[in-house]
Amino acid sequence: MGLSDEWPLGWEDDAYPRTGMVTGSPADGGFIDRTGQSWRMRVLDTALLVGVAIFLGAWVSIDEMLLRRLVMNVGVGIVFLGWVWQSLTTRCPHCRYRVMFHAYEKYSSLDWLLRARAMRSCPKCGYDPD
Ligand SMILES: [Zn+2]
Repeated sequence: MGLSDEWPLGWEDDAYPRTGMVTGSPADGGFIDRTGQSWRMRVLDTALLVGVAIFLGAWVSIDEMLLRRLVMNVGVGIVFLGWVWQSLTTRCPHCRYRVMFHAYEKYSSLDWLLRARAMRSCPKCGYDPD
């Protein structure tokens, strides 16, 4: 049940170079990935991880109240700035529409991130990078 079972016949031949397999993988199919902006998503992921880690770290390990609140707010600030930056800079290369705004408007707070990642084309002008 490996990849070779599903892959079209002849994938080992020179007609199907390995680089072609990688770029054609269904794993990276979203509009944001295909317009070369997935690194912005990774910046957001990193900001979330770092911010939450600082927040929780301060909560459990700092006894002094003022310092604890200060550091916790730094954690929240990192998450907030990462999120705002990612929302403002992830754009359609064709019409410059901020595609994340579409996700916030249309989808629930539970799945806007997944929906934004799965977007196939620009919701405003219909631009498809393929
Ligand atoms: Zn567009």
